[in-house]
This record gives sequence, C-alpha cells and structure tokens, in this order.
Amino acid sequence: MKVILSYGLGVDSTAILVRWLTELVCRTFDLKNLIVVIAQTGDEHLETGHLVEKFVFPLLRKHGIRTIQVARASNSQRDGIVILDDTTEPTICYIQGAYRLSDEMVEVATVPQTGGIRKCSLKAKGWPLDVLIAQLTGGEEFVHVVGFETDELTRMMRDMPLGLPGRNPTYPLMDWGWDRLACERFLWEHFKIIWPKSACSFCPFALASAAGLARALPRYVANPYEAFKALTMEYLAVAANPRQGLIGGRQLYDALLDFEGGPDLLAEFQEHLNCMPWAIYDVSRAFRAKADDMMKAANAARSMTRIATGDRADMVRLLDYMATHHLPPGARYEIGRHQRVWIHERNIYYPCPEQAFVTAPALAIDKVNDSFAEAWEAALKGPSQLALV
Ligand code: SF4
Repeated sequence: MKVILSYGLGVDSTAILVRWLTELVCRTFDLKNLIVVIAQTGDEHLETGHLVEKFVFPLLRKHGIRTIQVARASNSQRDGIVILDDTTEPTICYIQGAYRLSDEMVEVATVPQTGGIRKCSLKAKGWPLDVLIAQLTGGEEFVHVVGFETDELTRMMRDMPLGLPGRNPTYPLMDWGWDRLACERFLWEHFKIIWPKSACSFCPFALASAAGLARALPRYVANPYEAFKALTMEYLAVAANPRQGLIGGRQLYDALLDFEGGPDLLAEFQEHLNCMPWAIYDVSRAFRAKADDMMKAANAARSMTRIATGDRADMVRLLDYMATHHLPPGARYEIGRHQRVWIHERNIYYPCPEQAFVTAPALAIDKVNDSFAEAWEAALKGPSQLALV
C-alpha cells in the first residue's frame, strides 16, 4: 500500500521524515512505498525553502524517495493543479509555486481571514493535495501521514474522518509521544538548526499570538523582501477597508513601528511603494441588514474600481485637488497613512452604503460583485438616509 506523507516543510513533518530516513527501527513499511507530497502556496519563507534543499532533499535523494511538488494553477478549481516537480532526486524546493496565494489576496485587496476555518489553507494546500493524491491512488487504499504533534489532539480528531475514499490517516508523532519541542530537539541534534515554523511569510495565524509576533517581527526586519510582500498586501487591504490588518484587525505596520529596526524598514517600504504604479480607487460597499436586527450587518456587496492611474505623487495630488475643489456636501477628507475622500460612511443602521475614493498601489483588479447594483440601491434607501431626507 502507498504511504503518502503530506510534507508541510515545517518542524513536525520534517522530524517525521528525517527520523524515518535515519532510524530504521521507527518505521514499519518499505521506503519504496513512500511518496512525499508538498503543496506550494507560492509564499513560503525563503529560509524554509533553503533549509529543505540543504538538509531534507539530500536524504530523499539518497533513499530515492518519490517527491512531488504541486500548486494551484489559478484561483479557479476549473484550471486544476500544476505539478512543479515529480522526481526521486529532488534538488529545488519550488516555494514560488504557480498561482500564489499572495496574488489572489492582492488582486482583491484583502488579507487571509482568521475568523472560522482556514479557507486560504484549504484552497492553496488542501485542495491541490487532494487532487494529486486522488491521481496517485486512483481510489485505492493508502496510508496518509500527517504531522500533528501531541499538543494537536483536537486538530487530529477533526482530521481523522476527512479526506478521500481509501484514506487511512496516520499520525506518527502521536504514536511516538512527540510534541513540538521534541521535534525541534531532534532536528537540532541532526542538523544543529532551530528549524523555523513553516508558513506563508504574511500568515495572519502566525502573527495571532504574542509568541508568534515575537518570532515574526525580527524575521521581517532581517528579510525586507518578505516584509514588503506582507506590508504591501496589508497596505492595499487597509486602503480598501480600514478595518483590515494582518494581526487580527491590527496592522503589522503599527507593530513594526514599535519594534527595533522597524521604523527603518518602514521608511524603505515607503520607498518601495513609491516605485509602484498607483491608482485612485472608488471603493463602495452596500451593507445588508440582519433579518432580525437592523443594527447588525448581514453581509456586504463590494465594488472596487480604478478611476485614475499614475504614479504615487500624481494620484495624491489628484485626490487632494478633488477634495479641495469638489468635496460634495457631507463628504470628509482623511489624510494620514492612507488618503481618502469619504462620500458615504457606515451608519449604525443597516442597510447602508459606504463609499470612499482612496489612493493605493494599482495592484487590485477592478471587481464588482454580481449583487452590488441591487444591494447599493437598497443601501441608499436605508433607514438613516430616509431619516436625513
Ligand atoms: S500558512 Fe497561513 S496564510 Fe498560508 S495558507 Fe496556511 S493559514 Fe493561510
């Protein structure tokens, strides 16, 4: 039976793989049945890719383990998956993926959302792996190895009944009684490396706790390329919606302002933004009311379209001109990290409209939700507007 290891490049699954390949006694299957599968989101830390190439791939080559790297082809499942590599002699860790999660986020001016299920992970990792594994197994029984450690019992219980037909989930770290620390120690003993947590370089889940943030901030200061990717994504998302932010609604930008080396990094980031094409966007949201409570929003339909493009200085000047000479009655001009003209601001009663003209890097595509026109009409007729009339 095939033994398929979902290799997430992080501490836990690296420990399993290295132990299997270095300690014969801990394994009950023939290595010729092992297939290592890796889903690339396109945004993994560069350091992780380097360490995998330096320490893990040589072991896989030595034992001739089939290693397959896979990614999404686009943001639509219709376009399927891309096999980045399929070899028994892996040398390159294709962390650049194909269609990157960051591309998807930036196109619609948002960040991965931390409420509820990890939708980004299901789309960028879970789905391509399921498609690949279905192709590999053809519906036959297989052992699926997942690297949950002993502090992840709840996640393991949730995972057990999931997945493809014929899947026999296996959790070696649970059998070995290994927690994260044990995995880290093991890898330290082998490679003299504190193996880093694997994640997208902007992962909001990795920033959600104080410990996670303490790990991430020095990493950003040391890796401006990764910092700029996260900060650009966040900057654009906040321009479109001031309630966004990579740290549970708070901004990574603010966290870096207070961190050693952060202000210099942010000054460079502003220079980085200056080099991009910019736009003035019309960002409009039509909020619907909850059925039983007009003081709560049910959901919103959004329209985000470019009304002008140019360099940053031109866009700032143009919006400033609009605000100075053509500010409609009731509108408000906001100047700060983001420059906006608020035409409609959110009310306490729903339905209601929200609309702002905002300057931002021209990275988001024009996108109007199908239901926007109808929802906008209803929002304009919402209770507070009627009251004002
Ligand atoms: S690492 Fe974080 S941002 Fe990337 S897919 Fe997983 S949960 Fe989403």
